[in-house]
Amino acid sequence: MNDVIIIGGGIIGAFIAHELSHYKLKITLLEKDNDVANETTMANSAIIHTGYDPKDGTLKAKLNPIGHDLYKQICKDLDVPYKEIGAYVVAFDDNDIKTLEELKTRAINRNIIYEELYPDTFLKQEPNLNPEIKKVLSFPTTAIIDPMQTCVALIENAIVNGLKVFLNQEVKAIEPIQEGYKIKTQDKEYQTKYIINCAGINSSKIAKMIGDNSFDIIFRKGEYYVLDKKASYLTKHIIYPCPSTMGKGVLIVPTVHGNTLLGPTAFDVDDSLDTSTTLNGLEEVKTKVQKLIKDIPFNLTIRTFAGLRAKGSIDDFIIYENENHPHFINVAGIDSPGIASAPAIAKYVIDNFFNELQPKENFIKTRKGYYNFDSLDDETKAQLIKENPKFGHIICRCEKISEQEIIDCIHRPLVPKTIKAIKKRIRPGMGRCQGGFCAPLVIKILARELSINPKDICYDSINSNILKQESKGDDHVE
Ligand SMILES: Cc1cc2nc3c(=O)[nH]c(=O)nc-3n(C[C@H](O)[C@H](O)[C@H](O)COP(=O)(O)OP(=O)(O)OC[C@H]3O[C@@H](n4cnc5c(N)ncnc54)[C@H](O)[C@@H]3O)c2cc1C
Repeated sequence: MNDVIIIGGGIIGAFIAHELSHYKLKITLLEKDNDVANETTMANSAIIHTGYDPKDGTLKAKLNPIGHDLYKQICKDLDVPYKEIGAYVVAFDDNDIKTLEELKTRAINRNIIYEELYPDTFLKQEPNLNPEIKKVLSFPTTAIIDPMQTCVALIENAIVNGLKVFLNQEVKAIEPIQEGYKIKTQDKEYQTKYIINCAGINSSKIAKMIGDNSFDIIFRKGEYYVLDKKASYLTKHIIYPCPSTMGKGVLIVPTVHGNTLLGPTAFDVDDSLDTSTTLNGLEEVKTKVQKLIKDIPFNLTIRTFAGLRAKGSIDDFIIYENENHPHFINVAGIDSPGIASAPAIAKYVIDNFFNELQPKENFIKTRKGYYNFDSLDDETKAQLIKENPKFGHIICRCEKISEQEIIDCIHRPLVPKTIKAIKKRIRPGMGRCQGGFCAPLVIKILARELSINPKDICYDSINSNILKQESKGDDHVE
């Protein structure tokens, strides 16, 4: 019998599992996909907002500033990127300036650092901004992270501290039993005292499994362009327009890896699997970002993608214990600023729904991050290659990722078994060629390190195998 089962391995499930792993509990995480961080946590703007945006009186307004303040230390402990690059909210006219005043009042009330800037200052900082911009509200402590790496790092560290993770386990039914709940997946059953429903866009489906119809989830799609690292000169800060009722608008966001994101749109869709990009959506992004920044080099686009916000039918995060089913906790409707709030959401869940937890004396707080060989100086690189020549064997030419980095990433507590899982962790395939050159080599390394037939290596989900039969192939990896 488990003490707690967490349903869903996105950033919310990951933070809750990590927080619970500080205590003497038997915890399990069930994830329907072949890897964690495979839905909304994989496709978003990756901004740690400071918390000036949510409306007063909401859980979002309460948890976002706390989450923001917790991130820096967590990222340090887990050795994952966190860059405080700052954000500009820009105003073009009197209406926008009025909106900036509202944001400023919220920032003052929530102790959020801000600065008011005028063209003489902000155009020096950001010369590519549209010169018609009249005023900027700057939030210098706004940060960016890599949500996929952060999610994996939280789960890796929680596993070291006792968490059990089962992938490819889609929760299909839940039955109350005397001591708690029986959870049925497609092929197994689990028993638990507590359930925490962190199933993102499927969270209302999970709640309905115990007859809880009190909320629904709307799927709000956001489409993006990804620009090559060559476009990183465009902006140092995140550039936002003034927010509207549909959200924070279409932004320009530098990523921790040096790319630039342009997006997202905000359209409601009916299909929870619809992460397609569309001509209309991308045209909208193009028109809107060109109002913020001059001369955007769209010819440097290396990819487009879309993510689905799990927008709750109640306009706030939906976090509560079901009144008829004790210890069944919904953590739903976690749209933006869900990533920024996630550490605070985890603490909120534990403070409000768990009693008298016993801390573990031997909790292991830190984790060693992945190698980033390309970022090292020449002397260190030469030393590492001397110690292990696999550091000198570059597999992904675009992102300059070596064989040894991939090997290190495979032999981790949460073993990545697919091409996409490796890509999400250390980025082979994220560059200009999008995996055209490195994917076959990644398959070979995965097969060799995990003693699996290359034909059984999948791109992502089960049955997404790429190879049908042996061919001459590339012989660089033995
Ligand atoms: C376009 C866009 C931009 C955004 N930008 C930002 C931003 O800049 N900053 C910010 O703070 N937030 C942002 N967000 C919001 C943020 O991405 C989400 O709040 C966050 O990722 C939600 O995480 P989650 O764990 O709740 O959901 P998910 O990441 O979707 O995880 C849910 C998990 O549950 C699993 N699951 C579902 N059903 C089942 C089942 N039956 N059995 C087992 N497992 C199941 C799924 O496979 C998935 O892995 C953005 C969102 C979008 C879409």
